[in-house]
Amino acid sequence: MKSACVIGWPVEHSRSPAIHRYWLKRYRIDGAYEKEKVAPEDLARFLGALGARGYAGANVTLPHKEAALRLAAFADEAASAIGAANTLWLDGEGKLHASNTDSYGFMTNLNEAAPHWNGGRRPVLVLGAGGAARAILHGLIAQGAASILLANRTRDRAEALAKTFGPTVRVIDWADRARALAGCGLLVNATSLGMTGKGDLDIDLKALPSDAVVADIVYSPLETPLLAAARARGNRVVDGLGMLLHQAVPGFERWFGVRPEVTPELKAHVAAALGGG
Ligand code: NAP
Repeated sequence: MKSACVIGWPVEHSRSPAIHRYWLKRYRIDGAYEKEKVAPEDLARFLGALGARGYAGANVTLPHKEAALRLAAFADEAASAIGAANTLWLDGEGKLHASNTDSYGFMTNLNEAAPHWNGGRRPVLVLGAGGAARAILHGLIAQGAASILLANRTRDRAEALAKTFGPTVRVIDWADRARALAGCGLLVNATSLGMTGKGDLDIDLKALPSDAVVADIVYSPLETPLLAAARARGNRVVDGLGMLLHQAVPGFERWFGVRPEVTPELKAHVAAALGGG
């Protein structure tokens, strides 16, 4: 039997088991996917014994993403560029490999839901400068975004990202986010605002062109107030659940040898697990 797990501290909230266990059943694989609560001081020991515990690999969630990258013997281009790992696997010699699939997940979902997002190569406005924003900037630049405006409440964090990602990224003040929408082809919310229990994302969409795409990576609720407002004025919207599902694909394929599909049935299954119907 093959096994994988998600490692976090805490880990109870993780949605990864709902996704991977669905696929294990769907593809009739004799496998398991567990939750492993691992304290930061125990991470190195845990990963050192990953194979001995019977695991082919793991997902990594907060607060271990940066440390997992440091502890891996090999990292792919995405993990190195993003500076964090969310997917680990052991090779035939027991060496630990690290990847970051958030960028892949975001871009695959965006390309599927709004294939023409970069049609006019208009500027993209990204809100947020945390770990998720980092992965999104990496993906947008790799896929040819011409210009990215980056706004974050704490401007220093945005400046640090702009330094990492180069001249495609231009930092603007958080207070200027609504004005900056004029002429944009894509707006991405990569903050935690709009998530159940967090604050509201306060942004007036008036200046946003009506043919622009609005993507929110928050997936609880599935239809955030930002997406509802964008939909109401005719913008194409892309929700965060698709990113969550697509980022899980490469790990499952590594551990269990089958490239799984993201289907409407899977989406409904995970949405129900999230309490979103
Ligand atoms: P993070 O590193 O903690 O970053 C949080 C971001 O939200 C920062 O930019 C932060 O700004 C901003 N923020 C938080 N509270 C704010 C407020 N009151 N006003 C303005 N800005 C605020 O988190 P992350 O890992 O990047 O994740 C961000 C969100 O994306 C979370 O809700 C997470 O669940 C979601 N996510 C979804 C997926 C998916 O697959 N759909 C994947 C990863 C993450 P400051 O820098 O000023 O604090």
